[in-house]
Amino acid sequence: MPTSIIEKTRSSFLQQDVNLSKYTTWNIGGPASYFCEPGTIAELKRGLNYADEMGLEWRVIGNGSNLLVADSGFDGLIVRVGPKFADHSVNGDVLDVKSGAPLYKLADVANDYRCSCFNFVTGIPGTIGGGVTMNAGAFGYEVSDFLTKVTYLSENGEVKEMDVLDDFFEYRNSPFLYSGEIVLRAEFRLDRSSHQPSMSEILSTRRSKMPYSLPSAGSIFKNPSKADKTAGEMLDIVGAKGMRVGDAVVSHQHANFILNDGHATAANVQNLIDILQERVYKEFGVTLVTEVEVI
Ligand SMILES: Cc1cc2nc3c(=O)[nH]c(=O)nc-3n(C[C@H](O)[C@H](O)[C@H](O)COP(=O)(O)OP(=O)(O)OC[C@H]3O[C@@H](n4cnc5c(N)ncnc54)[C@H](O)[C@@H]3O)c2cc1C
Repeated sequence: MPTSIIEKTRSSFLQQDVNLSKYTTWNIGGPASYFCEPGTIAELKRGLNYADEMGLEWRVIGNGSNLLVADSGFDGLIVRVGPKFADHSVNGDVLDVKSGAPLYKLADVANDYRCSCFNFVTGIPGTIGGGVTMNAGAFGYEVSDFLTKVTYLSENGEVKEMDVLDDFFEYRNSPFLYSGEIVLRAEFRLDRSSHQPSMSEILSTRRSKMPYSLPSAGSIFKNPSKADKTAGEMLDIVGAKGMRVGDAVVSHQHANFILNDGHATAANVQNLIDILQERVYKEFGVTLVTEVEVI
């Protein structure tokens, strides 16, 4: 690409040295050398082309609610697929949502159609793209339960569609995690046979069990598949609650949450994660795997 086009792309669209702490729910993280927030597929491709031409590494993020960004930041391009990429439409029993929309939009829109099948996402602060990629879930349901089709940008820049089959998605895992593909849109089925508690009931249940008053990234560790206890239960038993490194502290309410109690750094959090993993391994012989992703 001629230098003039590179310069034009940069000046009109890309920001430089953007502090990522304001784009993570933990409020932690150093700067990204380049950052863009596309509103269209063309803009998204423009950002990726720029990264390609400049030999930059790139990563896509949504609402940053499952991310631990290093204090040194990210030397490359961060593409944030968020509120600028967030329309939705309903056609019969099909809800089609762009990947930057917040997850709660599913529940909001479905409720307008007297359908409670997405109420379980209430209180999960991610985007559709992050929710599909992480296969977010709560109260026994997962995003993939009602997902029928995903439109994505393939690694070589083509817009493709995937019909969702049951065995494509697992607990907090999907074909899109670490794949280099970007979720653009998702189609969901409005399932009126699923009767879930109301959004406000779900929110108050969550608030009674999980800390919402300080910044966090939700559950730190996945629940181990072969153990008879959850990660939170094991952490509770090894005395994790209240443990602290710097301003990173394990919640007294839920042992699987690390909170930012002021000015926690990514190093503080990582240190605490290491200590917790070691304690659980010593007591239970189980290696806890992080649900939170590190950039
Ligand atoms: C208070 C709190 C409570 C939470 N409760 C829950 C819960 O009950 N259940 C649960 O499952 N999670 C929970 N989470 C974690 C988090 O909200 C979910 O994992 C959510 O789905 C992450 O979405 P995000 O948009 O923030 O993704 P990010 O954190 O920005 O990114 C997460 C991953 O998704 C990828 N990604 C994001 N957008 C796209 C895209 N468009 N295309 C391709 N890849 C993409 C990123 O590259 C990264 O790998 C909680 C978090 C908090 C802070």
